[in-house]
Amino acid sequence: RFEGIAMAPPDPILGVSEAFRADTDEKKLNLGVGAYRTEELHPYVLKVVKKAEQLMLERGENKEYLPIEGLAAFNKATAELLLGADNPVIKESRIATVQGLSGTGSLRLAAALVERYFPGSKVLLSSPTWGNHKNIFNDAGVPWSEYRYYDPKTVGLDFEGMIADIKAAPDGSFILLHGCAHNPTGIDPTPEQWEKIADVIHEKNHIAFFDVAYQGFASGSLDEDASSVRLFAARGMELIVAQSYSKNLGLYAERIGAINVVCSSAEAASRVKSQLKRLARPMYSNPPVHGARVVANVVGDPALFGEWKAEMEMMAGRIKNVRQKLYDSLMAKDKSGKDWSFILKQIGMFSFTGLNKAQSDNMTNKWHVYMTKDGRISLAGLSLAKCEYLADAIMDSYHN
Ligand code: PMP
Repeated sequence: RFEGIAMAPPDPILGVSEAFRADTDEKKLNLGVGAYRTEELHPYVLKVVKKAEQLMLERGENKEYLPIEGLAAFNKATAELLLGADNPVIKESRIATVQGLSGTGSLRLAAALVERYFPGSKVLLSSPTWGNHKNIFNDAGVPWSEYRYYDPKTVGLDFEGMIADIKAAPDGSFILLHGCAHNPTGIDPTPEQWEKIADVIHEKNHIAFFDVAYQGFASGSLDEDASSVRLFAARGMELIVAQSYSKNLGLYAERIGAINVVCSSAEAASRVKSQLKRLARPMYSNPPVHGARVVANVVGDPALFGEWKAEMEMMAGRIKNVRQKLYDSLMAKDKSGKDWSFILKQIGMFSFTGLNKAQSDNMTNKWHVYMTKDGRISLAGLSLAKCEYLADAIMDSYHN
């Protein structure tokens, strides 16, 4: 009975926010969860989202159920944003797109597809990866293992290890790749490295499974951030791609994203789509409409689309400025000769500091800086004004 149920451990990422809320110290800083904050460290609703919502109110749209696959205008817009509207995959209707419950729900739906139609196939995850990937595949009953990714010696990519592990995986495995702005490391392959990754995946008959949670947020350009996925699509490879609008449109709580399966024919795509719908129906029946309308309105209106891009550049730019300031502060304070330039090379919301668990604990317990225990800090939750303080905390934790 219920008396026999044990307490679950706190979530390694969302649990950090819970601990932060309980801390009463004024200096406290939440660098745990990846959510964009303003320079004043307030949550930010994009102006373009408010405009789209205003339009939606004026139109007085209803709240009837969406179809299982979601809002048609959203599904069209999201696939086009991902691949580019003139991509042959779209022209030839070789893509099955289903609206999902943001990135997480989309990944979970794809995991259910893998479990049902590729029983026993393994998913390979980067080491390290976003912590929830493991939960998602565990809960879906999909076996997974890891490929080397992060090299602590260089605080960079272990490319040789990555390629060797993808080669060593059983033929026909699913290789989970972060489309851009790898979480938690902030380290992405170069375009040449992406080509080699695609070569090996092709040779081994694997299927690339992209998680795209930061399109437009990494470089500030939607097209540039989708170039990894587009490179694979241009080779005619079959793909799975999960998308999220949590970060790039700031729609965290609206739970809006999509799962895309790129197939070899239009017929296969429509069969895959029918099966995705069949999987979704008993799980949540159909997705929520609000976020889907926001995305469809923003992408479908040239003026709003332009405003969105400008706001994304602004957000990506603020994070880059903070990154630079943190680096400058660390270099000014650190007399040990340590090279902190890896911070500047990292991409996206996060910085992987190289701090271990004990050092991360010191950051929190002594300095009230909340971060995940793998040494990841969210620069989106940092302001220029707090960089000096954070650098002091890192110095103390790193060198003592
Ligand atoms: N994948 C990665 C790599 C992420 O970092 C995130 C957000 N932290 C997600 C997926 C999904 O987030 P959401 O469910 O809010 O879209």
